[in-house]
Amino acid sequence: MDQQSAHRPSNLFYLSRLRRPVVDRAEGIYLWTKDGRRFIDGSSGPIAVNLGYSNPAVIEAMKRQMERTTFAYRLHFENEPAEELATALAEKLGYLDRIFFVSGGSEAVESCIKLARQWAVATGQPGRWKVIARMPSYHGGTYGSLAVTGDGLLTDTFSDQMRVMPTVPAPTAYRDRDNLSLEERGLRYADMLEERILAEGPETVLAFIMEPIGGAATGALVAPDSYYGRIRQICDRYGILLIHDEVMSGVGRTGKFLGGDHWNCRPDIISLSKGIGSGYVPLGALAAPERIVKPVLDMGGFQHGHTYAGNPLACAAGLAILQEMDRLDLVDNAAKMGDLLLEELGGLAKRFPFIGDVRGKGLMAAIELVADSQTMQPLPASYHTNQKILDRAYERGLILYSRRVKGGVQGDYVMVAPPLIVTADEVREIVSILGDSLEAVAR
Ligand code: PMP
Repeated sequence: MDQQSAHRPSNLFYLSRLRRPVVDRAEGIYLWTKDGRRFIDGSSGPIAVNLGYSNPAVIEAMKRQMERTTFAYRLHFENEPAEELATALAEKLGYLDRIFFVSGGSEAVESCIKLARQWAVATGQPGRWKVIARMPSYHGGTYGSLAVTGDGLLTDTFSDQMRVMPTVPAPTAYRDRDNLSLEERGLRYADMLEERILAEGPETVLAFIMEPIGGAATGALVAPDSYYGRIRQICDRYGILLIHDEVMSGVGRTGKFLGGDHWNCRPDIISLSKGIGSGYVPLGALAAPERIVKPVLDMGGFQHGHTYAGNPLACAAGLAILQEMDRLDLVDNAAKMGDLLLEELGGLAKRFPFIGDVRGKGLMAAIELVADSQTMQPLPASYHTNQKILDRAYERGLILYSRRVKGGVQGDYVMVAPPLIVTADEVREIVSILGDSLEAVAR
């Protein structure tokens, strides 16, 4: 660690008091610090840098746009990059072909909820306002997105009222010890949504929001296949909108363009962010079909205007990122490298009995750490095992991702989610360093 930078007083204040080495440059899936250390990024930052760092075509496109203009306010001028990016995204999103740009993931989630609410008002259903979320879940850090985030560690601080929205348990069917099959358990979790809707009063429920593949709160949580179709049926039965938060699972991460594309669950609105900006620019979006957007526009417009939304520089970068993803066939690479990653992580599970589950899709994978893999008894929260593993990996120059979560699963997972450009050798290197780190923690 760079001692000078570690102790220099700073005007910056940030999430944690922990001071880290200062980054110098980054390329591909690697970052270098000022003191000359090399890190391999096994988590794409916070599972965001899908394209990898310093892609020359993206940098070139950004330079070209910067020389013309970085900014032109949306209410004063149209801009070509925003138009072209919307067209390129719509081609990938099928029926979700009406796009609205924002500047990040939390804002994308907020905008989905606001669009849903305006749709309800515009279609004569003003009594619908509740957004049911899952516990645990992560949907963002701003007040509105926190209101649907199922994690007491993040919400309790602000007030008891912060978690105003109802929740249902996240579908952690792999943990359950009963005589049901996984598919039957999946249906049982979905049916809990129906019970909650009936308890709340269906006429008061606006939407159900879920991460199709759970991320920050649940570590690459994949529900049984049966869950997804049943959720869609239940939402349809009560006229409730299904919002998929694809901020982490979207844009090729899981080996399909959207995480939800692994199932036939046809959400009504989706949020996107991380991957579409890929660490180059702050960028987010919502996408919805015309049938949702039209009534809102007919009523006078979507009430969600932010200064930087759809700015030409962010959109020019976003367009170049999508083009590079296509040129390099990265969704396919994510699927192939993801299979290898899960296989390699499966090898670790054989070596370390405290790995209770290996899961994920594509390059959104995780191991879950348990006290007993037979009963899936979680580790005591006081062990901070996930943080110890992250620290041991960091010392060895590997970045991984985990968070501790209050509510439901203990957060004892470690996610492995390298940029989608990762090669087979690099996947093996990442898992080998993770293995050494697990060895160090087990000692
Ligand atoms: N939704 C999900 C599913 C996320 O994973 C995140 C970020 N971890 C967010 C929303 C919030 O995104 P941002 O940090 O860009 O505000």
